[in-house]
Amino acid sequence: MTIELAQITGKSDKHIHWFSQSTGIHHEVVEPWNKLCYAAKKQGLNLSIASGFRSFDRQLSIWNRKFTGQLTIKDIDNIIIDIKGLEEAEIIKAILTFSALPGASRHHWGTDLDFYDNSALSNGQTLQLEAWEYQNKGPFAEITHWLKQNAQEYGFYFPYDKYRGGIAAEPWHLSYFPLAEKFEKELTINTLSNCLKHIDLKGKKQVIEQIESILTQYVFNIGRYHHG
Ligand SMILES: [Zn+2]
Repeated sequence: MTIELAQITGKSDKHIHWFSQSTGIHHEVVEPWNKLCYAAKKQGLNLSIASGFRSFDRQLSIWNRKFTGQLTIKDIDNIIIDIKGLEEAEIIKAILTFSALPGASRHHWGTDLDFYDNSALSNGQTLQLEAWEYQNKGPFAEITHWLKQNAQEYGFYFPYDKYRGGIAAEPWHLSYFPLAEKFEKELTINTLSNCLKHIDLKGKKQVIEQIESILTQYVFNIGRYHHG
């Protein structure tokens, strides 16, 4: 399989297998994912996808709305940040704690997804994608515990297992390492800056200037897959 530039940056979805209109993952991840789901099912756990592939345009829309204050930005303690009076560079950092730069999201690749257990929510409860749901006595604590023991056997791991000074911990985010690793290697400074060159990205000048440190602090600053 060759990885096209447009697939790395989310501008193409040719590599995506769609389970429904809004949910898809990479063709090559379908089989390992199904195996993982089947193994979970045997333990009475209903592994489900909250969010799989996300396109460049979708990520761009999130970014621009956060940058202009149409969507709220929260800090690492979940407190809403007032962006009025902040320098552009500060707004960029604030967004990056929870949202990827368009073109640099692992969700573009189809190798990464946000999971939950759709049978663990009680009546009237809806998925929030918040850390408490995945910890202690939260509805997805059990499936999280099971995945931590077993996901690796199927090639999956948790790249955002803890806060490392870049992206906040995302206990719901799983990555299929054998393929994600290949995408990761292709995501270079050049690929990313070329991809953003002709795009109406808010804060673009600052972003391009800082692109190397953004990649280091927010994209490659992640947990590692432990082989065998
Ligand atoms: Zn995610």
